[in-house]
Amino acid sequence: MSPVNATRTYVIQTLGCQMNVHDSERIAGSLDAAGYVPAQDGVEPDLVVFNTCAVRENADNKLYGHLSFLAPTKKTRPDMQIAIGGCLAQKDQGTILKKAPYVDVVFGTHNVGSLPALLERARIEQSAQIEIKEALEHFPSTLPARRHSAFSAWVSISVGCNNTCTFCIVPALRGREKDRPQAEILDEVRALVADGVNEITLLGQNVNAYGVDFGDRTAFAKLLRECGRVEGLDRIRFMSPHPRDFTDDVIEAMAETPNVMPHLHMPLQSGSDRILQSMRRSYRVDRYRGIIEKVRKSMPHSTITTDIIVGFPGEDESDFQETMNLCTELRFLAAYTFQYSKRPGTPAAEMPDQIAPEIVAERYTRLHEHLNALSQSVNQEVVGNTAEVLVTDVEGSRASGKSRDFRLVHFDALEGVRPGDLVDVVIGSAKPHFVLAKGAPLSWRKTRGGDAFAARKKEAEAKGVMLGIPTLKSVPGK
Ligand code: SF4
Repeated sequence: MSPVNATRTYVIQTLGCQMNVHDSERIAGSLDAAGYVPAQDGVEPDLVVFNTCAVRENADNKLYGHLSFLAPTKKTRPDMQIAIGGCLAQKDQGTILKKAPYVDVVFGTHNVGSLPALLERARIEQSAQIEIKEALEHFPSTLPARRHSAFSAWVSISVGCNNTCTFCIVPALRGREKDRPQAEILDEVRALVADGVNEITLLGQNVNAYGVDFGDRTAFAKLLRECGRVEGLDRIRFMSPHPRDFTDDVIEAMAETPNVMPHLHMPLQSGSDRILQSMRRSYRVDRYRGIIEKVRKSMPHSTITTDIIVGFPGEDESDFQETMNLCTELRFLAAYTFQYSKRPGTPAAEMPDQIAPEIVAERYTRLHEHLNALSQSVNQEVVGNTAEVLVTDVEGSRASGKSRDFRLVHFDALEGVRPGDLVDVVIGSAKPHFVLAKGAPLSWRKTRGGDAFAARKKEAEAKGVMLGIPTLKSVPGK
């Protein structure tokens, strides 16, 4: 048993979407500020935090699977604490403690910053603590953070969502949309850039509805333009926009702001108007198509990625064919596909005409193969072109990164090139999920992002701590 006053170590297991990954940065930052330190690889941590998801399929099974794995350790080391946060905690609350009574803390999506205090209380009172707030206490971005990357950062501009898609639990769990003031967002962007960040992704459940909270429908386009003026910021991305709120001024701001990347990730969900209506997605295929046409007209070299749900209740073969045909027509660079599964608490879970799992699986496979062939051909279009790549990984003589239009690029590393730097490469060949550069990079620009990565690595080596956020895979025996 470790003494109560010894420095306590932690790992965080994130299940779910980008918002959750970003929330985990805040959880880690709050723990760091309270004196916890990340656990070293191979060392059993004193605290395991699960940041859960209620949106993705089987999220609860995954969580309870992880928990049952930890149960024997908790028995032999009762001072090890387990905390559950995120959407599933917000939804299930006390149920978690009934299913896993050895859990120490359950906290919601609105009170991430309370975790250290709740852990302390659980330790002193020797009893489990549940604290779920119905409304946001602090905007997550105002809490301290331990960032995943030295050169690439997320900035949350809004939380919650005012839509009511019938398959989605987010509005029930994260509440109505709350927008952060523009000045506060820009202050954070500038502070991150001053810290060496050269790529920012603006995040929101419905990112382009930004402004709805304070009555300015042009606020998102203005924010993109303002971010574009921040000196030293090489790349700006955003996710995820909703087709309903996608206005022409956003397309103009994208096209006219050189550091906003020519890539749009916009969820489609279905290529059938009948299913979109039943999903309560407030656009139809024609509107989606119209946005893509305008984006491509303004930015001919842009790419489009999307999300698609297969097997929504009532989807028949002809609806599914409409989705397949729309993919062929719109030529997505990539699509993240999901097999529909019931999310308790959502209207779609109560709909008649649920589709048999084997039919969903068969359609999913067909769509997946179709999309792979399309991605390969979309990647083939750029063979022979030069691409600017922001380096993300370097391993020996191999390196990888993302092009401006969001393609994964593998290339031969130049001696000394660092994650965060920018290189220009010639694309030599294409695969469905990546492209390969031909020969060595044509040029290499050392960036402040690369400097920030090198400084963080040096500091981590000197202190013997890890880069980023430690995860459960580093727990012995896992
Ligand atoms: S737009 Fe729809 S799918 Fe997206 S968060 Fe809101 S309710 Fe959920």
